[in-house]
Amino acid sequence: MEQLLQQIEQVKQEINTFEGYNGEAAETFRIKYLGTKGIIKGLMGGMKDVPNDQKREFGQVMNALKQLAEEKWEALKLAGGDGAAAGGSTIDWSLPGTQQQVGSRHPISIVRNEIISIYHRLGFAIAEGPEVEDDWHNFTALNLPENHPARDMQDTFYINQNPDWLLRTHTSSVQARTMETQKPPIRIICPGRVYRNETISARAHCFFHQVEGLYVDENVSFADLKQTLYFFVQEMFGKEVKVRFRPSYFPFTEPSAEMDISCTVCGGAGCSLCKHTGWVEILGCGMVHPKMLDNFGIDSNKYTGFAFGMGMERICQLKYVVNDLRLYSQNDVRFLQQFTSSV
Ligand SMILES: [Zn+2]
Repeated sequence: MEQLLQQIEQVKQEINTFEGYNGEAAETFRIKYLGTKGIIKGLMGGMKDVPNDQKREFGQVMNALKQLAEEKWEALKLAGGDGAAAGGSTIDWSLPGTQQQVGSRHPISIVRNEIISIYHRLGFAIAEGPEVEDDWHNFTALNLPENHPARDMQDTFYINQNPDWLLRTHTSSVQARTMETQKPPIRIICPGRVYRNETISARAHCFFHQVEGLYVDENVSFADLKQTLYFFVQEMFGKEVKVRFRPSYFPFTEPSAEMDISCTVCGGAGCSLCKHTGWVEILGCGMVHPKMLDNFGIDSNKYTGFAFGMGMERICQLKYVVNDLRLYSQNDVRFLQQFTSSV
């Protein structure tokens, strides 16, 4: 009995000083002390040699030892993480941790949010519409009847199941839907994705993003349009950027204009982006055609309005000097990681 107690005392010390920091160590410990052929089981075997009147005391000492070993094993498992329970782990806990990759906002999203924020301050609400449109909202209602030559300006994807369905070629369809359901005053911008059947290249893509704006109320004039766009350019590109308007043609506006800004890359001196003219075109605009207002039951004698539309990729190109449109949809992290924004 004396000898056994000495042995137990020694095992106790061994257990207390056992060190291990991974699942493998916990498992080694379990097999050595708590396994079916382990030390504690072996010591229990000594019970048969203990005199009867000391069996009770021996039992208590052994129970205490077993409890100590089990507690130690639990502690080792915790130190070794979950892997220990699954039968061992080879994780080295002293290695530095893996850094979490933090994503960045897509440049188109950054520009869209900025545009929304600028027009929001002027009281424009956001309107949305479907990307699969019908002919009426995309063309006919916008003063583009069938066989109108201007339809050729936009190569359209039609939907096989129904010749009346198509992928919207511009966000003007959202303007149509808004005028259909709301009465003036209307003051909206419609950001969204649009589709055209074009060969993909650095300068053209089969889908891109637009933002259009519409303001219909009594006494809305071309001066209001110009002031709204001046404000936008200054907020987006800075106060030093110059603006010019050129007469143009759109079927849904009369008169129509295209707006250029002084090149944001060379400041107007001339570079490859502005084709050495010092000016870059950024949007089309004009006064809403009276026929369009009439199409939606808005009295064109009482109300007037202006509309404008721009490509978000174009704004991105000027802001970030990205020369290849395809980069926006290739999901190349080396490209995307270069953009950071809190908006
Ligand atoms: Zn330039």
